[in-house]
Amino acid sequence: MQKLFSTVLLMVTLFTHSFCQNTSNKGETKKAANMKYEIVKSEDEWKNILSPEQYRILRQKGTERPFTGIYNNHKEEGTYVCAGCQTELFTSDTKFESGCGWPSFYAPAQKTTILEDLDKSFGMVRTEILCPKCGGHLGHVFNDGPKPTGLRYCVNSASLEFIKKEE
Ligand SMILES: [Zn+2]
Repeated sequence: MQKLFSTVLLMVTLFTHSFCQNTSNKGETKKAANMKYEIVKSEDEWKNILSPEQYRILRQKGTERPFTGIYNNHKEEGTYVCAGCQTELFTSDTKFESGCGWPSFYAPAQKTTILEDLDKSFGMVRTEILCPKCGGHLGHVFNDGPKPTGLRYCVNSASLEFIKKEE
């Protein structure tokens, strides 16, 4: 009986493991479930360092109104970091004109692993994207982006801070 139990346990473990691997996206993304974040702050600490709009979006999974964010039509060369923890998330190299009203990128910055989670709010099934260091809500990723990835990382401007490339 004991042996049967361990065999079943082993099979479940293997199945779960292969399932996780199949759903990960070529190493560019990682599932957010059960994540322990490197940067952990209390709600009060976040409120102190973020503007009310940044707090609403990053920490409460809010969304800015389309075409209102400061980086929607932003075309300068540089890096977009997390407004909560300054982790490099995207660069101007993969930013494209999506027309959706939010800054859009077809890939994360090199060496950056954006976290993904399933979002079933508002009667839709979407893939939420989060900062890998602090778990801040960034936006969503969709499968209707341009080549070479076919992905559209749709990000709230309020989740980002822009660092201009040095001349
Ligand atoms: Zn962050």
